[in-house]
Amino acid sequence: MQRRNVVKTLGIGGLAAGAAASTFPKPAISQNRQQWRLITTWPANFPGLGTGANLLAELIGRMSEGRLTIQVFGAGEIVPAFESMDAVSSNTVEMGHGAPYYWQGKIPATAFIATIPFGLTAQEQNAWFYHGGGQALADKVYAEMGTKFFPSGNTGVQMPGWFNKEIHSLSDFEGLRYRLPGLAGKVAAAAGATVVNLPGGELPQALSSGAIDAVEWVGPYNDLAFGLYRSAQYYYHPGWHEPATVLDNFISLDAWNSLDSELQAIVETANMAVNMSVLSEFVARNNDSLETLVNEHGVQVRKFSDEVLIGLGNLAGEVLNDEASADALAREVMDSLLTFRQSAINWAGMSEQAFMAARLLDYQYAEPTAG
Ligand code: CA
Repeated sequence: MQRRNVVKTLGIGGLAAGAAASTFPKPAISQNRQQWRLITTWPANFPGLGTGANLLAELIGRMSEGRLTIQVFGAGEIVPAFESMDAVSSNTVEMGHGAPYYWQGKIPATAFIATIPFGLTAQEQNAWFYHGGGQALADKVYAEMGTKFFPSGNTGVQMPGWFNKEIHSLSDFEGLRYRLPGLAGKVAAAAGATVVNLPGGELPQALSSGAIDAVEWVGPYNDLAFGLYRSAQYYYHPGWHEPATVLDNFISLDAWNSLDSELQAIVETANMAVNMSVLSEFVARNNDSLETLVNEHGVQVRKFSDEVLIGLGNLAGEVLNDEASADALAREVMDSLLTFRQSAINWAGMSEQAFMAARLLDYQYAEPTAG
């Protein structure tokens, strides 16, 4: 707990030295108006992620006409990024915004909720949350941490990252100090990498200093913002590791249960809007950012071979089974996801996947007017 920041930010003076965080006075509640604090694991205002949290706060404030206002704090402003769940679990602050796999050390099932390697696309994952039982399962998992869960943004397919050497075979992962969170991190570890997780804000320094050899963060839009191209030359795809990572809005159950049903509906609806907006922002911005990386910064795009991907897929299967064997709740979430995945693969073969192949056939098509 960085007490000084809290005091400074909230303008609370005269607290007794050494006062515990939990004894801080809550922001005033008067005439059915209350103010909550939302802490994020992202640098304040970071594109897509931090701005998604900002949008959530803005929508809740406007939809409730000020009955519930949300003040947003970036990583480290109240607590370090990875202590956000503890702060919300204990109701020290009411809300957080991050990614589910950041809590896998507490509850292993959260890693499955975030995304599974070679798993679902963003559209499929949203279908699982909203119409496939995912929301209820995620609520069950987050209740173990004393919190309510909402999907609150999605990155879509990520990029497995930045390397200083080319990856030709699985053995090239051996000894690599690689930042990669979640279940995919366990897959890379199974391939011999030394895997670390670091909050986003620490990545540029960790890579440029040589503390790590390779890093994945999100994708072109976010990776360009961090300047990761300055420290690594090769930029790999496809995103086997995180095909669609959901962002989580986690709310102290005490705080959530204190809301009337109208405010609960507002929070739920605002999260649905943010969930769509964030994913749309990534889809809209990634390609322009990729072109900037390649054309202005000389980044070399590389693709993992099918052989490497199949090797990673085999390891992913082993990791999923191992994780599920060790934890009943993880098993329950995994079984639901794998059943949904089989159905999604079948339908995608006749819909998105078939359409995308058709879109690339060799035909004469209209082009935008040059301007
Ligand atoms: Ca990532």
